Amino acid sequence: MQVIALRKAELGEGFQVARALPTRERRMVGAWCFLDHLGPVELGGGRGMHVAPHPHTCLQTFTWMMRGEILHRDSLGSEQVIRPGQVNLMTAGPGIAHTEDSLQDGTVLHAAQLWIALPDSHAAVEPAFDHYPELPQWQHKGVELSLLVGEFAGYVAPTRVYTPLVALDLHAPQGGLVSLPLRRDFEYGLLPTVGSVIPRFVRNAPAEGTATETGEGVVLDAHRFAYLAPGVTSLQLELAPGSRCLLIGGEPFAESITMWWNFVAHSKGYIDAAYADWQNGSARFPDVPGATSARLPSPRPAWQTGPAA
Ligand code: MN
Repeated sequence: MQVIALRKAELGEGFQVARALPTRERRMVGAWCFLDHLGPVELGGGRGMHVAPHPHTCLQTFTWMMRGEILHRDSLGSEQVIRPGQVNLMTAGPGIAHTEDSLQDGTVLHAAQLWIALPDSHAAVEPAFDHYPELPQWQHKGVELSLLVGEFAGYVAPTRVYTPLVALDLHAPQGGLVSLPLRRDFEYGLLPTVGSVIPRFVRNAPAEGTATETGEGVVLDAHRFAYLAPGVTSLQLELAPGSRCLLIGGEPFAESITMWWNFVAHSKGYIDAAYADWQNGSARFPDVPGATSARLPSPRPAWQTGPAA
């Protein structure tokens, strides 16, 4: 098990988040290529999340709301408030732009925002926005589970993704101990979002009859993200009272991707074109109806030389 310290990052104007992916130690978990933990933070006194119009390519943005509300607007004309227990999924395909604004000063905002890389076969999929107000939820040994993506324990989430993925939220108001069967062909990432969690895992040896590897004893909190390589068949989680965590997983992503600012691509040339199209106001990235602020300019790709776009 690889334990990675989250790093601080800024969203919009001075709104701090903790970033679990990508880091130097780990770029992806399955097709999950970005994971920001927002809050919990009390809004008000000028503190809020306000992200001006910005583009995305070749990815899906995935927002999981735990507390508070965020208003999403995009260049398809979508306008949707997301509330606790809900998922918003925006599929960029070749190009989309959106804004995100936290609502209700005086309340607490707590969310996770992730990106899912699109495989090359679906890089040009039609841009789309999907809101999932209801997801499979159940209880097990005092732990409340929500399935955000994929299949688990006979439940199937409606979330439309293009590679094999899973995401689960676990919440233990009184504390709890659960044992989760995992897919040995998946890799997994675990992030406590409230309180602390102790993971213990069983990794079956590749050959039958040989010893299994077990790992245990690490106390994780919201500052640390744990990565489990493929081969783990069982994960036991001991959640302290009031704790909550997010488990993501997926089939290791077979393709290499390039990320620059808000762009994901399968080549630098694709990013060069997306960068130029965004900077030049191309119809590839239409305006966001209702947006109350100017477009965010993109930083120039670090590998570019010569005159800027
Ligand atoms: Mn975005």
